[in-house]
Amino acid sequence: MKAKDIAELLDEPACEHNKKSKSGCAKPKPGASAGGCAFDGAQIALLPVADVAHIVHGPIACAGSSWDNRGTRSSGAKLYRIGMTTDLTEQDVIMGRGEKRLFHSIKQAIETYSPPAVFVYNTCVPALIGDDVDAICKAATERWNVPVVSVDAAGFYGTKNLGNRIAGDAMIKYVVGTRDPEPAPMGKNGIKVHDVNLIGEYNIAGEFWHVLPLLDELGLRILCTLSGDARFEEVQTMHKAEVNMMVCSKAMINVARKLNERFNIPWFEGSFYGITDTSQALRDFAKSLNDDDLTARTEALILREEKSIRDKLEAWRPRLQGKRVLLYTGGVKSWSVISALQDLGMKVVATGTKKSTEEDKARIRELMGDDTLMIDDGNPKELLRIVKEYKADILIAGGRNMYTALKARVPFLDINQEREFGYAGYDGMIELVKQLCQTLESPVWTQAKKPAPWESGASVGIKAEALTMLTPNEQPSADAEKREAS
Ligand code: SF4
Repeated sequence: MKAKDIAELLDEPACEHNKKSKSGCAKPKPGASAGGCAFDGAQIALLPVADVAHIVHGPIACAGSSWDNRGTRSSGAKLYRIGMTTDLTEQDVIMGRGEKRLFHSIKQAIETYSPPAVFVYNTCVPALIGDDVDAICKAATERWNVPVVSVDAAGFYGTKNLGNRIAGDAMIKYVVGTRDPEPAPMGKNGIKVHDVNLIGEYNIAGEFWHVLPLLDELGLRILCTLSGDARFEEVQTMHKAEVNMMVCSKAMINVARKLNERFNIPWFEGSFYGITDTSQALRDFAKSLNDDDLTARTEALILREEKSIRDKLEAWRPRLQGKRVLLYTGGVKSWSVISALQDLGMKVVATGTKKSTEEDKARIRELMGDDTLMIDDGNPKELLRIVKEYKADILIAGGRNMYTALKARVPFLDINQEREFGYAGYDGMIELVKQLCQTLESPVWTQAKKPAPWESGASVGIKAEALTMLTPNEQPSADAEKREAS
């Protein structure tokens, strides 16, 4: 990828900060690769396209470091769960066999699995030795008449976030617009069906399935969710949507902007976390589609769903009311989760903003007040200091903070992409309260917070108790006891 293309992706004009000062996206700092490289970002953004063969062109560790690290679910095709790599070795590099290996890998994937398309991810080594991945993909497309898409996202190009954008850009460049969708069927009771897309929704732990029935009921046909539970042919039809909802604030904003510029599709940003934001997202669909009947039906659905979920949450509320939370999210929008927790009567004492945009921060201030504590650098020591100082009852963060919390005996809930539970939509709130209660009320915290026996001066008693549990043969002899005493 040319330097000018990378610079263009980093200076995304749809980002608020670029509108104001043209400052470009934050540059990676030394050590930032711990958060994932550009290749990692590209692969996690596209891996949920479930029926495609995803081939990582590079040494095997590149594939190993990114494969399936987002707990996305598919309702059918499972090909995305097969990790494929060209497994480049030192010999391949020395002998210049990289392109050949890639061509054969594509052949093997197509002949074995007959996928509707193949995505090829470039990584550092082939990018450095100059493999022409674009040309190989083109030749393979012509040879097997199957779309082979080059995703040129070598790790050293930049951050994981840049990788997300490279992935989105590849979809716009090679896939979107290559097929038209089937005509929309007539909706139930004669309602008009509108075609829409979701961008940056990954169906983590199947959470989007909480929302899908509501959109169906309203007559909103999802042409494509880029990329949770998506299929290749759905991505091809994205250009025909009437409106796009941008679910993740930063990952694929370039896709929403380009669909707007090229196909005149309006877009809005929203979230399905929490009651308030889910309702707002549904309202925003109706507003963007400018359909009075849809607006009326949306309001009726919101009324019904909010009442139903608030009734169900009532039983849980006393167990969570007033509990203090330190929220340190990565990819998930902090403001969105704050609003979900506030819906439950919890108090968010501080929140992480490392990956938040300026707009995200403004929304956080709106929700939590101006003097809210925003944490830019949440190293383990700092997080634990804040937990102690602000008397937080629970740390809600990404999986990599789990051991920080557990070692400090602080209840911990995983909120990031690796989690096992889906929190989106109205029904996702029930899952969220269940997990929060189970975490906060687990008996392990009472046990773990008790002083250890050797700290309470009860060591003699413990020793005596332990000895009675030994069999006669295991009892220390009188001689051994004497030796120990001397
Ligand atoms: S693409 Fe580069 S930075 Fe990323 S995992 Fe592979 S070698 Fe590492």
